[in-house]
Amino acid sequence: MEPQITARPDHTISRKQISAAALKVLYGLKDAGYLAYLAGGGVRDLLLGRNPKDFDVATNATPEEVRRVFRNCRLIGRRFRLAHVYFHDETIEVSTFRAPAPPADEDPGDDNTFLAKDGLVLRDNLFGTPEEDALRRDFTVNALFYNIADFSIIDYVNGRRDLKERIIRVIGDPEQRFTEDPVRILRALRFAAALDFEIETSAREAIRRHAEKLEGTSSSRLYEEIQKLLSCGKAARVFALCCELDVFEHLFPELGAWLKAPDGEGKTHWLNKSFAQIDRWRAAGFNVDPALLFALIFGEYHEWVAAQIAANEGLQHAEALQEATHRHIRQLDRIRIPKAVTHHIAEIMTGQPRFLKTTPQNAKRMLRHRSFLDAFLYFKFAARTAGRHAAELEWWEQQRKSR
Ligand code: ATP
Ligand code: MG
Repeated sequence: MEPQITARPDHTISRKQISAAALKVLYGLKDAGYLAYLAGGGVRDLLLGRNPKDFDVATNATPEEVRRVFRNCRLIGRRFRLAHVYFHDETIEVSTFRAPAPPADEDPGDDNTFLAKDGLVLRDNLFGTPEEDALRRDFTVNALFYNIADFSIIDYVNGRRDLKERIIRVIGDPEQRFTEDPVRILRALRFAAALDFEIETSAREAIRRHAEKLEGTSSSRLYEEIQKLLSCGKAARVFALCCELDVFEHLFPELGAWLKAPDGEGKTHWLNKSFAQIDRWRAAGFNVDPALLFALIFGEYHEWVAAQIAANEGLQHAEALQEATHRHIRQLDRIRIPKAVTHHIAEIMTGQPRFLKTTPQNAKRMLRHRSFLDAFLYFKFAARTAGRHAAELEWWEQQRKSR
């Protein structure tokens, strides 16, 4: 297929917006005789007038050839090798154009070679053409190339049209692409929220149909992607999309079931406030511990379970809250939250009753504890959201000031 090419005068990307490191890599490859394209989110963000998080380069040089061009280069990854080119403040990821993924029965395994049925080892054909590389990317707006040879934009997938119309459209058949890699569902939600785009209709339907496949996905990839969702600056919109497209319950099943219960209305209020707070911290450039983010999301649910436990098992509130928090954390194996983080979530939650019942002496000790600030930020958020404990909050603010 012939791509649509947009020449330099007809688009807004200028070299001034591209980092010096990325330009060095692009020109280094071009001068060595290879194709060198800026690819992925960098091109998308530049065309939208946004500041790209990082720059990725795609080329027809093999990883070994890339290494010969740059001395400051290391190859990473086993199954599909990538080159990282290091500069003092930036790393540029260079990937060789990729061919379509082979069918499962020809899986190349770990060593980039195919083992044919008769045992013959064939040379790998993981590498492909620019077109094949564009077509195996996730969304049309993520598949544009910027060609350093003539500063044009190369578009195999109508990505420029979708950028203009602000649409997240899956490349190929959404059913198939979400089945191949369910994490793409979360990526669609993140890009739609962060860029303020709409998800195209057939993709929305496919998300609803396939969201349950997230349950079989690698828990560490899920954790990583959830971190990105929470820190994209538009977590509140991600949450709204998650509810609209029935994704939330496949990430947090217990919480999802609780939200969907008949008396669930007031509960989304808490979660909406939580996500809005997460976005405010983000906008203020405040680097929040992931444990505090999860505590905000889980908090009201833990309180609710604690109340059930207190009523049914006759425990005191503080003990019941501890029990509720630990029970839920044990159920969280679907997303691999690191141990240190779950430990800190428990610290934040089980520390809450102490904010209501303390002496100045104890308060001094609490203030010195390393988890104080996160526990206090949670207390402040919960008190304000529920419109309660104003006097205690004021008292604690005083204690902090007079420290
Ligand atoms: P950002 O870095 O701003 O989060 P990005 O679009 O650059 O967004 P990356 O995760 O950095 O996203 O990936 C770079 C590119 O690789 C994407 O733009 C997309 O073309 C491709 N890509 C990444 N993950 C997938 C995936 N799961 N399936 C298909 N293509 C993907
Ligand atoms: Mg990127």
